[in-house]
Amino acid sequence: MARRLVILGGGTGGTLMANRLQKHHGDDLEITVVDQDDRHVYQPGLLFVPFGLADPDDIVRPRHRQLRKGVAFRQAGIDHVDIEAEQVHLDDGAVLPYDVLVVATGARLMPEETEGLTGPGWNEKVFTFYDLPGATALHRALEAFDGGRLVLNVVDMPIKCPVAPLEFAFLADWYFQERGIRDRVELTYVTPLDAAFTKPMAARTLGGMLAEKGVELVTEFNTGEVDGEAGRLVSYDEREVPFDLAVVIPLHGGAEYVDRSPGLGDELGFVPTDQHSLQSKVRPNIFTIGDATNVPASKAGSVTHFEGEVLLENVSRFLEGRELDVSYDGHANCFIETGFHKAMLIDFNYDTEPTTGHFPAAVGAPLMKDSRLNHLGKLMFQWVYWHALLPGRDIPGIGPDMPTAGKALTTT
Ligand SMILES: Cc1cc2nc3c(=O)[nH]c(=O)nc-3n(C[C@H](O)[C@H](O)[C@H](O)COP(=O)(O)OP(=O)(O)OC[C@H]3O[C@@H](n4cnc5c(N)ncnc54)[C@H](O)[C@@H]3O)c2cc1C
Repeated sequence: MARRLVILGGGTGGTLMANRLQKHHGDDLEITVVDQDDRHVYQPGLLFVPFGLADPDDIVRPRHRQLRKGVAFRQAGIDHVDIEAEQVHLDDGAVLPYDVLVVATGARLMPEETEGLTGPGWNEKVFTFYDLPGATALHRALEAFDGGRLVLNVVDMPIKCPVAPLEFAFLADWYFQERGIRDRVELTYVTPLDAAFTKPMAARTLGGMLAEKGVELVTEFNTGEVDGEAGRLVSYDEREVPFDLAVVIPLHGGAEYVDRSPGLGDELGFVPTDQHSLQSKVRPNIFTIGDATNVPASKAGSVTHFEGEVLLENVSRFLEGRELDVSYDGHANCFIETGFHKAMLIDFNYDTEPTTGHFPAAVGAPLMKDSRLNHLGKLMFQWVYWHALLPGRDIPGIGPDMPTAGKALTTT
């Protein structure tokens, strides 16, 4: 009899896992993907929407169409998971029993957790570009903005794609120069970190770029309140940053149903997961991928992609009663758009900081340095996402193990 695999979430991780597992196991595995809607957003494209560089329609495709024939798609909200009974309860009352569960429900934006953030001024002079309605509203606001203080604020970590807010700052500098009003705009980047980024070497480079582009950096700012009426961010230690327009990256947590599923998640709603095998720590037949895990890797599509290769192996090994592969090394890479048709590339893992050199080998894209080649790589990635990454095709030269050839390595 076919074994039942339920995948919660049909975003990046859920889709690529369903396709890889279906290709590998065929009819031996009955795969059901559950998602609350049928609109798959290419999230890296959200960065470009506010600047008019991407059209919202170009970055959304029907979810079910990204799944291989043989994968069942169930459109419903998840109410809760009963990990004792091995059942998923949907919000339409249906119950899905499973032999193996893959949690791929990503991270949730929680703007309501910050005082004032969704109060007066929300989507008028306080925005986020981390979802499609926010990015679209911000596009209109940026077009109407003709000078003043624009503040970018990361409320707390972890967030999806930790470099995206920096990319926004770099693109804002480019955008206002293009419009000929850069001298009328003050740009400020406000972060809870003690530097521009988490990893020291990349933080120095990225902090230097902010300075070069005339973006003021405010560090160790733990936002307690966003006052959209008066136009100010207030920290818990009572510092204030005034703004005319604020772009805020809200607090992130795991999906809401995780809190209603006893034993499944931690206090933030992420699933405790072994960082090398991606098996959850809560039940051996539950695996996790992407932003939904609590592993100390970046919450990024590249991470989700690399995790998928190890997870394909481990779900298969688990079904066959074999020992799991513990080889996931935390590999992440990100193109960082720096404006003026250039981008930087960083590549790192749990133990190795982003460093200089080339990717994926001695001849390749330059690391930690902005270039036109990297910008083209960033643009091309959207095609790769829909046509190779989601369908579960291997991308030559880009695998889960971080490459070391061509790098000046530093271990953390
Ligand atoms: C602005 C922005 C820019 C980014 N740029 C990059 C980049 O350049 N490079 C990069 O590598 N990564 C980037 N990312 C991050 C990347 O998009 C995510 O890390 C990746 O999509 C995570 O995949 P996932 O499968 O874990 O979650 P998602 O793709 O978010 O999928 C989660 C799915 O779960 C579903 N779901 C959640 N709760 C429920 C529920 N209760 N019931 C039913 N369904 C539910 C959701 O509808 C969603 O479809 C960016 C993200 C953002 C926001």
